[in-house]
Formats: sequence, C-alpha cells, structure tokens
Amino acid sequence: MTPAHKKLFIPGPVEIAPEILAAMARPMIGHRMKEYAVIHGRIKTGLKKLLFTEGRVFLSTSSAFGIMEGAIRNLVGKRCANFCNGAFSDKWHDVTIRCGKEADPFKVEWGQPVTPELVDKALATGRYDAITLIHNETSTGVMSPLPEICEVLRRYPEVVSIIDTVSSMSAVRIPLDELGIDCCIFGVQKAFALPPGLAVFTASEKALARAATVDGRGYYFDFLEFAASDDKDNTPSTPCISQIYALDLQLERFFAEGLEKRWERHRIMAEYVRGWVRGHGYALFPEERYCSQTLTCAANKAGTDLAALKKMLGERGYAFDDGYGKIKGKTFRIAHMGDMQLADLVDFTAEIEDCLQKI
Ligand SMILES: *Cc1c(COP(=O)(O)O)cnc(C)c1O
Repeated sequence: MTPAHKKLFIPGPVEIAPEILAAMARPMIGHRMKEYAVIHGRIKTGLKKLLFTEGRVFLSTSSAFGIMEGAIRNLVGKRCANFCNGAFSDKWHDVTIRCGKEADPFKVEWGQPVTPELVDKALATGRYDAITLIHNETSTGVMSPLPEICEVLRRYPEVVSIIDTVSSMSAVRIPLDELGIDCCIFGVQKAFALPPGLAVFTASEKALARAATVDGRGYYFDFLEFAASDDKDNTPSTPCISQIYALDLQLERFFAEGLEKRWERHRIMAEYVRGWVRGHGYALFPEERYCSQTLTCAANKAGTDLAALKKMLGERGYAFDDGYGKIKGKTFRIAHMGDMQLADLVDFTAEIEDCLQKI
C-alpha cells in the first residue's frame, strides 16, 4: 500500500512545517487594505536582513521561472551571456532566446562549476550587457564560487548580473550588496521550505535604470511597476496572500533559529550526506570543493538500480530522487535544505541502506 504522504527528500518542493501550513489557512485580507501593507512591509524588512541588502526586494506571485523570464525581459538590452553548467542554467538560455533576446550560452561540463575565469573571458569580449548565472545548480549539486565571480563582475560596470539562488538562498550567507548583485532571484519551495508559487527578487538601482531603457518589459513582470508598488508596500497585481502569510512566519522562524545557526545546520547536514555517499560505494558527482550545501548529487558508482530503490523507498513513505535530466539513473540527489534536520537524514540514509540489501 502506498503511504498517504511520502516524506520529501527531493530537492524541491520540500517538507513544510505544520505551523506554516496552518498560517496559510488564515482568513483572507484585501491586498489594498492597510493590513496587507503591514505584512508586506514586515516581510521586506526581514528579507533585507536575510539578503544583506538595503536595496529593493519584491514579491512575485509565480514560480521562479516567471521572474526569470521577467528579469530577461527587463534587464537584457544588448546581449546576454548565459553560463550553463546543468539543466536549470541550460533553461536560462532557453528562456532568454524565447524572450526574443540576443544571447550566447557558455557551456561547462555538468558537474563542473562556472569559474571566474570563464565569466571574465566572456565579458572581456565587450559583447554583453547582462549575464545569467545559477549559484547552486540543483540538477548537478554544484555551487559555483559566487564571491570570486562577483569580483570579476566589478570590472564590468555595464553588465547587469542576474543571479539565480533558488536552491541556496538562506542556507548559506549571500550578502547581496557586498557582492554587488543587481538582480537576485529565488522561489520559496526549496531552501525556504514554503509551498511553491511565490518568488522573491531584488533589483539594484542599476537594474532599474536598465529596465527603464528596455522596451518589451511586458505587463505582469514589469520591474518598474514592481518598484512603484513597492513604495506602497504592495504588489502590482493580487499576490498569493496565503503564501505571504507563510513567508512572514517563516522569516520569523529563520531569525528565531539564527542565521549563523541555520548556515551551520546546513553545513553539518551536507557533510553528513557527503560522508554517507562516500562510505556506501558512491562518489560525489561534483568536485568536493564545489559541492552544494543544500543537496548532494552522488554518482552511481555502485551501479544501483535507482528506479527500484526509488520505488521501494516510495512504498515506505520516502520520496527519493534518482537524478535529473541527462544524468538520471547515473546520479541521485539527496536534499538537505529548508527545515530539515540531521536526524531526518540519519533516518533516511538508514532506510536507504535497508532497501539496498533487498534490491
Ligand atoms: C527549481 C529551480 C528553478 C525553477 O524553479 P520553478 O519554481 O520551477 O520555476 C530555477 N533555478 C534553479 C536553480 C532551481 O533549482
């Protein structure tokens, strides 16, 4: 018999705390009522603290892809350099092209990071006025060296940086202003441990100035509309208020845990899972120093029948991920993000070990 709920160990969506789900069941308010602006303002203050920014922070009722498309429409003027080292970053390039923008993909082998050298080489051509980069490639479990890349970006002030932190934001320290990131984007169903459907993004003054010069920004994701609404602690169109209640509470929970402690918890969980992977006949898919802090992508060196393992774990009430895109079956991924605790992973890996003896 299939269990009613499979506990999620996949890299998004992730498990949601019961109190968060309860917060979403609260009665509705109107988004043009004062009550909404109070919540929106409080969330903005919390997000600014979490993102280490004094700049604009916006809430978008969409998944991350919505605002990815929005960022391209608003911020790419001349030509965009897309750095591709996995399935999600490949999609960024696709999004850029489909928005009718000029762009080039800079491809890196899956499992490898985007390096500062590659970014420098691309931008030195002088052809680009925007870049897209994924901090944490969720398909391969690679975290690219963002501070070093941002050092390079400083030398190219004409370039607007669009950085996807969908699966890393809040799990590691990403100080936006210090790094000089123009537009940071993330959805909330991964590292934030909220139900899907809400995305957060930032826009620097440089980004907004660029948007003002770009035609075809569209309507729903027009950054200038977001900025005008932001002045009133509001959104251009009706937001997902239930999820915004949840975000409000989740930020409170983040600060109650403490950011340092939160980063440390993720570090400990990541180390545990990496150790388990190495100790059970598998290998880390990325080079260790580029391994993600929020999920581990393991190379299936032991030749395990991952589909069978996934099925057996599913019957026991655990959702297991047997790889993404072209590395499905050759790799598997274990998420360690959101509200997850080390004990959850100890339990999960013990369950995997038990299954492995039976398949
Ligand atoms: C999940 C993910 C996305 C896409 O998010 P959606 O919520 O499905 O739109 C984009 N980038 C990264 C790095 C992701 O992990």
